[in-house]
Amino acid sequence: MTTIVYLNGDFLPVEQARVPVMDRGFLFGDGVYEVIPVYDRRPFRLEEHLARLDASLAGIRLTNPHDLAAWRSLTERVIAEAGQDDLGLYIQVTRGVGARDHAFPARIQPTVFILPMPLSPPAPGLVATGVGAITAVDNRWLRCDLKTISLLPNVLLRQLSVDAGSAETILIRDGFLTEGSASSVFVVMDGVIVAPPKSERMLPGITYDVVFELAEAHGMACARRPVPERELRAATEIWLTSSTKEILAVTRLDGQAVGDGRPGALFARIHALYQAYKHTVMRGNEPS
Ligand code: PMP
Repeated sequence: MTTIVYLNGDFLPVEQARVPVMDRGFLFGDGVYEVIPVYDRRPFRLEEHLARLDASLAGIRLTNPHDLAAWRSLTERVIAEAGQDDLGLYIQVTRGVGARDHAFPARIQPTVFILPMPLSPPAPGLVATGVGAITAVDNRWLRCDLKTISLLPNVLLRQLSVDAGSAETILIRDGFLTEGSASSVFVVMDGVIVAPPKSERMLPGITYDVVFELAEAHGMACARRPVPERELRAATEIWLTSSTKEILAVTRLDGQAVGDGRPGALFARIHALYQAYKHTVMRGNEPS
């Protein structure tokens, strides 16, 4: 079946969608994006994703081309056209087409693109065994809170883990955990679930928020505080979270077992709570 995408006002087959080579997304990576999971045709945490898109746009000084209602109807139409229950909705906004000059062109229309992508939650085997991760120095810029399409550092860092046969690269800046190349990172220290507080050094993860909400609602001890590298290495559990990975346990870090080398008890609990919450949202019993 043909994939129908949205591009600048049109819904058309992906093969026919074209962006001019003078688009600043292509020339400079000058744009931002979002990935929104859709379960049973319902976008998960849509308003939160659109709020983060708005913050990313503001952060790169690009006026949001659409209000919330317009984004809602565009995403609804892409979901309807896709005819699949579960999707990852990729939204990209670039500064648009103009002469190649670093400075913003005076009058320019942003390029707006929405692509429905297949979404498959992690295989049950990965949830059961956990995954391996490696660490690397976080050599990205200092606005990692903006979800920009300039992803080359993340691409190179992620490839390090592929080369090492691992699932993710966990990043350390100035001796402290920041996040993964494409995920947020939690650790368990002395029975407490800990993740770095939001800052310009990491993306404010939507799944990160869900994990803290669930932990707090169920009386699980948790804290947002800086995580020194030595705590990362001494943690009894390490988790990766993202909209597409959901929650995965890291059971080997740089080749060393994390805890007893199996997903921990708190992982099992938060993973179950997350699945239950997701299904509640899918059944429409909770605002998404
Ligand atoms: N950090 C980075 C660098 C990411 O790319 C992602 C994935 N979007 C995340 C964290 C997790 O964010 P979310 O839970 O909103 O998917």
